[in-house]
Amino acid sequence: MEYKGMVTALLGALFTLGTTAAMASDAHAPAAAPKAAASHAAPAEAAKPAEAGHGAPAAAKAPEALAPSIHPLRRPAIHTASAVHKPAASHARPASSHKPAASHGKAKAHTSAAAGHGDAHDDGHGHDSETGKVQNLVKAMLAANTNYMKRNNSSYFDKFASKQTPRATVVTCADSRVQSNAFHPDAVNDLFMVRNIGNQLATSEGSIEYGVRHLNTPLLMFIGHAVCGAVAAASGDFSKLERPIQKELLTINIPKGINVNEGVLMNVNNQVESAMLKFGGEVESGKLAVIGAFYDFRNDYKQGKGKLIITNINGETDPAKLAALTKAGNFFNAATGMSAAPAGGH
Ligand SMILES: [Zn+2]
Repeated sequence: MEYKGMVTALLGALFTLGTTAAMASDAHAPAAAPKAAASHAAPAEAAKPAEAGHGAPAAAKAPEALAPSIHPLRRPAIHTASAVHKPAASHARPASSHKPAASHGKAKAHTSAAAGHGDAHDDGHGHDSETGKVQNLVKAMLAANTNYMKRNNSSYFDKFASKQTPRATVVTCADSRVQSNAFHPDAVNDLFMVRNIGNQLATSEGSIEYGVRHLNTPLLMFIGHAVCGAVAAASGDFSKLERPIQKELLTINIPKGINVNEGVLMNVNNQVESAMLKFGGEVESGKLAVIGAFYDFRNDYKQGKGKLIITNINGETDPAKLAALTKAGNFFNAATGMSAAPAGGH
């Protein structure tokens, strides 16, 4: 059907971009070092990353657009996973991982976007005032917008002036390190983006339903990411946080004390499962594909920094099956096996 072609094409675009980025950023061989992965933030079972996402990055030939990496991990069973890892460690991590990355990214944005990068407010490090920060940022944003307007002529805008025609509803975490340019060349009018802490269905159900049932996007994607602060918080004691924040953490169903990345993978699986329940009719009839992924900007799974790793297709989480489904472009009804698209059919 039409849907299948759209999804295949879109995913092709996403992964081509992701692969290119990963290759560019990580010249060092991601020499599948399973143990290293485990010793990092990766869960204990992370040991078998090699098998799946191999060939793609190194074998530079792979012209097939669809060469995503398939996530190497099995989904930890939700109920049995009360196995407490190391609560202390997993707590400490998000906090420490926060500040350097964030303040770096921002600094870069300043220099590249704002030509006149104000020295006036840059007195040293710790003391550049909130006022200065905001002045610089607003200035940079306006300058970037001016450039954007120059780069795009009116026909660019005319294409979507009267209505939007996105091909995917994409749910990501609100984390500032996760942005669509990591996996799409130009998401304008193509990705209906929904963002919240922990990339959840429950806390943005209306927005997601609008994308699926009113914009009729044939793909619904949930993208978790490395060291997610929301997931880390949900795995610990968040009773001291503000009520509205607590409310948005309560719907992340993971065991207390779970390793952060493992919690992220489990949470993505939970979101896919919830979506398949909610949109069962669409999924069954082959109108909607639900995909889960992990955006690995730290290279925790040794497939390159910035890799978008597919971890779930319509409930299927087995790495070998994910690889096969992805290669064949079978993104519909993978879990039930009914009406699987003809292999290789575009
Ligand atoms: Zn997050």
